[in-house]
Amino acid sequence: MEELEKLLAECKKLVGYEGPVRIALKPYKLKAATANIKSRTITVNTHLLDLGEDVIRYLLVHELVHLKLNSRYHDSVFHEELLKVVPEDEVRRARHMIIERLLEINNVRRGRRSSGPSLD
Ligand SMILES: [Zn+2]
Repeated sequence: MEELEKLLAECKKLVGYEGPVRIALKPYKLKAATANIKSRTITVNTHLLDLGEDVIRYLLVHELVHLKLNSRYHDSVFHEELLKVVPEDEVRRARHMIIERLLEINNVRRGRRSSGPSLD
């Protein structure tokens, strides 16, 4: 948790978001992380914490961009902000690792992704 807080402070600087933010943990089955715009809370899936600092950084940056923009949408403005901070290949790598882990914890077989995990 202490490391998460440290990483969060680092990511806030990267994103350029200076507002309040609380961090919480939950063993989600289908979500990587969520940002509650009203309560300014980022909740990270505990199942992903051991995927490495780059993945956690991607998750925190992603959710912080939602808070910065006050928007849950993944529109072009969102992606522009995200890619200012995390290079595209790193985004792709992080998303791949997250999806694989979520599929693993749900025992989902490859090729059956229609009702699979979401990366919100
Ligand atoms: Zn999102």
